[in-house]
Amino acid sequence: MSQPVKLYNTLTRQKEPFEPINPPYIGLYVCGPTVYNYVHLGNVRTFLTFDSLFRYLTYVGYKVRYVRNITDVGHLVGDSDEGEDKIGRMAKLEKLEPMEIVQRYTNDFHQIMEIFNILPPSVEPTATGHMVEQIEAVKKLINQGLAYESNGSVYFDISAYNKEGGNYGKLSGRILEDLLNETRELDGQSEKRNPLDFAIWKNASPEHIMRWPSPWGDGFPGWHLECTCMSTKYLGSQFDIHGGGMDLKFPHHECEIAQGNGLTGKDPVRYWMHSNMLTVNGQKMSKSLGNSFLPSELFTGSHPLLEQAYSPMTVRFFMLQSHYRSTLDFSNEALKAAHKGYKRLANGLRIVKSMEFTIEEGSTPEEAHLTEIQKIRQGCFDAMNDDLNTAVTIANLFNLLKKINQLYMNQLLPSAVGREAFNLLRDTFVGFTEDVLGLKEERNENGDALIDGMLDLYKEYKVQKQYDKVDQIRAYFKAQGLVIKDMKHRIDWAYEE
Ligand SMILES: [Zn+2]
Repeated sequence: MSQPVKLYNTLTRQKEPFEPINPPYIGLYVCGPTVYNYVHLGNVRTFLTFDSLFRYLTYVGYKVRYVRNITDVGHLVGDSDEGEDKIGRMAKLEKLEPMEIVQRYTNDFHQIMEIFNILPPSVEPTATGHMVEQIEAVKKLINQGLAYESNGSVYFDISAYNKEGGNYGKLSGRILEDLLNETRELDGQSEKRNPLDFAIWKNASPEHIMRWPSPWGDGFPGWHLECTCMSTKYLGSQFDIHGGGMDLKFPHHECEIAQGNGLTGKDPVRYWMHSNMLTVNGQKMSKSLGNSFLPSELFTGSHPLLEQAYSPMTVRFFMLQSHYRSTLDFSNEALKAAHKGYKRLANGLRIVKSMEFTIEEGSTPEEAHLTEIQKIRQGCFDAMNDDLNTAVTIANLFNLLKKINQLYMNQLLPSAVGREAFNLLRDTFVGFTEDVLGLKEERNENGDALIDGMLDLYKEYKVQKQYDKVDQIRAYFKAQGLVIKDMKHRIDWAYEE
């Protein structure tokens, strides 16, 4: 925990030294998916961003309680206060019980997260599992004079909140008058005293499937309320970090701040972090433009915009190569380049983990190697400390990779490097690649086991001097984009550069 981590805080609009409330413990909350549909790649980017944060903070010694919810009720079509529940709507369309929809897409979500090597959170609460907490919160906000009932629905009162010293708009930097001017009166909004007021409880119309009894009649909680209830239940009335996609900054997170303050008198979150969008060939990814694809389409290459299939680790590498606060543009060129880059790192992993590092007795290592490796290692930490600069971390790993390859090719001698420097090199390379960046070898996808078997055959044929068969195996490798490195003392394979 000696690492001086700095994080960009959306609330203050600057990078700040990260100081946990109660070190070594850290409370991290991230808005999870609304499980009414397959998870798309933009969502994956968000969860991957916070996965690298979770991984890094854990790596440097913090004990992180990571809460990421599942929204299984209350998120209405168009993110608004009116209209159909996204899950209820799918349930009707598919003639299924809403919880069947929830289960199906929760399973899909978990599967996709695992494929991308995104770690599960410590707690994964659901909105329907916290109905009691949400109803209690609504009662409390009414008692505090910060919410009012209207036709069986309950709204958070923005004017009352601001009169009490609240500052609605402070996270997104929006000004109340501007917001009022932007807001059009919609049908049903006459229930509200002020168009900016937001629903914390909604009255369920007779045809609304998802409903629970409450002091205000049958209804369901407002979308913003669940995150307030679940984050503070598991992390306390004030916790360290709240993350989510950029699109959640307003109104979702703004409303969470208002609710949290209203319930406990405290700002609920110290550091707000938002990850940026994914674009495709420069355009925003969206279903209506036909340029949004599902992870499964990516793995099979079955989308008109994809020239080939891309593996999960290639995509992970691609996403980590840009900073989480910049937009990331998805193109075939960029993906192909990422594929090469990822393969080089994976090859380094394979080599360094299996390297037999034998040193001749009596040799003295050259000090310069240790110094250089220490410097690169520090560079990895510095980059991650600088608001999770994964791109610079990767650049540092490539510098380590050079040394690994030199050792492998005998251009650099183990005796010159020395045991201490080699251990540091291996720990840094494996630690940052696997533990921090979450990149692992995709052994099965490339049939590496088969390749290793072929290599054994190759050796055998060479000993037997069956050169036509030797050539056949070489050709087989070449077709896979691999080369056989036939050195005097050993035979190995590598990805073609
Ligand atoms: Zn949320």
